[in-house]
Parts: sequence; C-alpha cells; structure tokens
Amino acid sequence: MKLHWQILIALLLSVLFGYYVPEGIKYTAWMGDIFLTALKMVIVPLILSSIISGVTSMGNGKNLGRLGGKTILYYVSTSTLAIFTGLILVNVIRPGVGIEMGFSQTVEDLSEKAGSVNDILMRIVPANIFESMAKGDILPIIFFAIIFGVFITKVNDKYKESLTTFFEAVFEVMMKMTMFIIQFTPLGIFGIVSREVARNAENLADIAGGMAVYMLTVVLALAIHAFVTLPLIVRFIAKAKPFLHLKNMATPLLTAFSTASSSATLPLSMEAVEHKSGVSNKITSFTLPLGATVNMDGTALYECVAAMFIAQVYGIDLSFVEQLLIVVTALLASIGAAGIPMAGLVMLTVILTAAGLPLEGIGLILAVDLPLDMMRTTINVWSDSCGAVTVARSENEETNVALTSQKQ
Ligand code: ASP
Repeated sequence: MKLHWQILIALLLSVLFGYYVPEGIKYTAWMGDIFLTALKMVIVPLILSSIISGVTSMGNGKNLGRLGGKTILYYVSTSTLAIFTGLILVNVIRPGVGIEMGFSQTVEDLSEKAGSVNDILMRIVPANIFESMAKGDILPIIFFAIIFGVFITKVNDKYKESLTTFFEAVFEVMMKMTMFIIQFTPLGIFGIVSREVARNAENLADIAGGMAVYMLTVVLALAIHAFVTLPLIVRFIAKAKPFLHLKNMATPLLTAFSTASSSATLPLSMEAVEHKSGVSNKITSFTLPLGATVNMDGTALYECVAAMFIAQVYGIDLSFVEQLLIVVTALLASIGAAGIPMAGLVMLTVILTAAGLPLEGIGLILAVDLPLDMMRTTINVWSDSCGAVTVARSENEETNVALTSQKQ
C-alpha cells in the first residue's frame, strides 16, 4: 500500500483511538516521540550537507545570487498574497464581532520569547556554529553552510574536489537515512495524533463552538491560498502541473499536518520534491531548508487573521494604515517564526505590540490554536515545495511535473 494511504489510515485510527481509548496512549505515545526525535536527528547533518553540496554544484557566486534572488522573491510574494487573502476574508466575515470573552484563558508572557525584528535579523549570523547545530537553529546553519559552500569553490582543486565529494557522500547517506525513517511515518503519526486527541478532545469541542466562525475564516483563507493561489502560480508561472505535484507531496503534507512542524517535516519534503517531483538536488537543497524557516504562508495568513480577530473582539476599529502595519508585521513575524509547533502564536505578540492591540487577546485563541497550527503548517510546507518547483522551472529544469513532461 502507498505510504500516504497508510498515513491517512493511521490518522483516522489515531483520532478514534485517542478519543475512545484515551488511557491507551500511555502505550502508543512513544512511537510519536521516537519518530520526531529521529527526524530531528537527521535535520542538522541533512541541511548542512545538502546546502554545501548544492552550493558547490552551482559553480559560482553568480548562480547562487540568481537562485537566491528568485527564491526570496517567490517567498515574499506568496506570503504577501496569503496575508491579503486572510485580510480580505477577515474583513468580510468579521468573525470577532459579537464574541463573548468568557472563555479567555490567561497566558504567560509570550512576548519575551518572540524578540524584536532586530533580534530576528541577528539570529541569522551564528556566533558559534556548533552551538547553533547543537540547538538545531536552522537559519544560522543555512547561513554558515552557504558561505562554507561558496568558499569550497575558491580553494585549490585538490581540496575542492575532496571536500565536494565528501559532502556529496554525506548528503547521500543522510538521504538514505531519511528514507529509512520515512517508512515509519504512519506509526509516528499514530503516536503523535492519538496523544493530542486524547488530551484535547473534550475541551476543544466546548470552545470550538464559540470560535467556529473564526476557525472557519482561517480555514477558508488557507484553502483559497492552497488550492487557488499557489496552483495558479505553479500552473502559469512555473508551467507545471500543480495537482500532480500535490499528489507527490502527500506524505510530507500529511506529516506537516500531524506534527505541526515545518522543520520536522523538512527531510520528508526534500525527499518528495527531489525524488517524486524531480527537482534537482541543487535547487531542492537550497530552497527547502530556507523555506522551512522563512517561508510560512500559512503562518503569515494566520497572524493577520488572528490579529484582526482580536481587534474585532475588543471592538477596536483599525484604519487602513493600521491594517497595512499588520500586513507588514505579519510578514516579518512569519519570517521570524521557527518551524516548530505554536511558533506562530508566540510571534503574534510582535504584531499585537506593534499594532497596539491587547496582548491578552492571545488567551482567546490559545485553545483553538492546535488544529489551526496543523493546517497552517501544511500550507507552509506546500508553499515551500511549490517554490522549489517554480524556481526549478524558471531555471529550465524539466522536473517530473512540467506541463510538457512525459515522465510519470
Ligand atoms: N507550526 C508552524 C510551522 O512549523 C509555525 C507556526 O506555528 O505557525 O510551520
């Protein structure tokens, strides 16, 4: 049976199991923990070796600059489109109007964790690359790997060859390890999801009632972005088949949904984009790790809707300019958010502070963050993968999903 069917079945079973046999999760939760730990285990060496070998295969700085420029352009434009989709829907549906604040939860101070825009920039350059690797901070690792790769091309031929071969070999091994771990995804997902369901089922059903319109607004906006905006970009800009690519991405997308973490999903998306959709290693290894941390369309959209929702609940009317401020900060917050569960909620404090909205508002949306986190993470990963295809096609790569491709 195909892996994504196995995962779907595991998802269904885990919901039933977590709901009806919540005590049983004592015996199954470990599967989820081991799966996530195994993914974390491969992430750092995978990113490092894949970016270094990707950069060395580009040959020179000019290629890198061109690819980098295209990638960033795609990331910023799709995130901005996502935010405007959210902004329009939240203004039309107005989910916050008439909400009672009775179920608001108190939150510990999240704002310290988020840091300022300046902190976000400072996080890119590592003071100590080993510390970054030990902590699994992806952005500084990417930064270091790109520079390291560039300078490999500048040393004498003997060293250049041996280092290039070495990192290519490490990358091959890491990819093989990733593929081995991927086989266990259904079990891992069963462990993760059944635990979350057992923990949250009752209280979610209670609160979700009052928050249904808000959740619906987020879901609708995410769906428009995922099924209309991004496919249009893939179809008309990348000249590729969006829904064939979507099918290829089934396993990583289901994993993103279940883990609510773009970083944990990264090894799976790299495998699918390269081996199923046929994007070259050069482009996969550059666009996806970067995308997993900086390109979060789902999160950007969510930040905007959530901030506007809080304003509506508190009866605060935001002017056009204030809404634009939310758009810009939502973009920055999505870039700064780490690819881990609930990072978007933490970053929301940045927007609320910038827009002068009450921070306690986060208490309102805390309870329903989990399902929305799962969905926005899926869109984050989906957008990264469409970015890889778009950049690859713009470099005239044939891939397996090109409109004209005979493959598959
Ligand atoms: N969980 C999301 C991700 O990993 C980030 C967020 O909380 O929005 O992509």
